[in-house]
Amino acid sequence: MASARHGVREAPGGLALVQELLNTRATMHYGADLLLHADDGQRWLTEALATWSRVSGLPAPTLLISSNDMRSLRRLRTTFENVILAAGNRMDGALPPADVPVSLVPDADGWVRMVPTGRGTRWLASALWAEALLAQQAGLWPRLKLCHNVDCRAAFFDTSRNNSGVWHDVSTCGNTANLRAFRERKRLLGGSDGQIGRPQLPGPPQLGSGPPPLSGPSGLR
Ligand SMILES: [Zn+2]
Repeated sequence: MASARHGVREAPGGLALVQELLNTRATMHYGADLLLHADDGQRWLTEALATWSRVSGLPAPTLLISSNDMRSLRRLRTTFENVILAAGNRMDGALPPADVPVSLVPDADGWVRMVPTGRGTRWLASALWAEALLAQQAGLWPRLKLCHNVDCRAAFFDTSRNNSGVWHDVSTCGNTANLRAFRERKRLLGGSDGQIGRPQLPGPPQLGSGPPPLSGPSGLR
């Protein structure tokens, strides 16, 4: 599964399907793009839908995808990345309408269920938008995030008390960012050497020998 590649905490219930889609993207050195080749995409989708069906208690169709569908899946992934970024105020402008059908089906006790409909990748789009809406209603949506490390962007479910996590893993992406900030600070200060007094720099973060002091918001996993 895509999310398991990152070792991230998975979103609860059907929301994990949205997270799965986001985590199909290639990342750093350890993960290829699962939506590049139809056989990888098919394997991923079959597993993801089986899991979704189990947690949602709804049947999932067997979706057989072509290379054209792969393009639709990648577009869908970009759309949901934008929905996530919009929630974090990291995107300008409004999002286009989803334009997908869903069925509202009351069960024997009168509870209305939102059931995805449509054929092929349209069904998947329906399921993803339905899960996004349900997660927003349940207050879970703001906890589904993309790692702030732009080379990573792993989708993780933030379980920190105040929902302040920004890294999918503090010990990898958090440390990388701190090291980069430290080097940048050093470079800027080095440029003004001799003109103003050299400010006191903290020692460089020692990767692998304990976490460096963190500045700013950090993930709390
Ligand atoms: Zn990360």
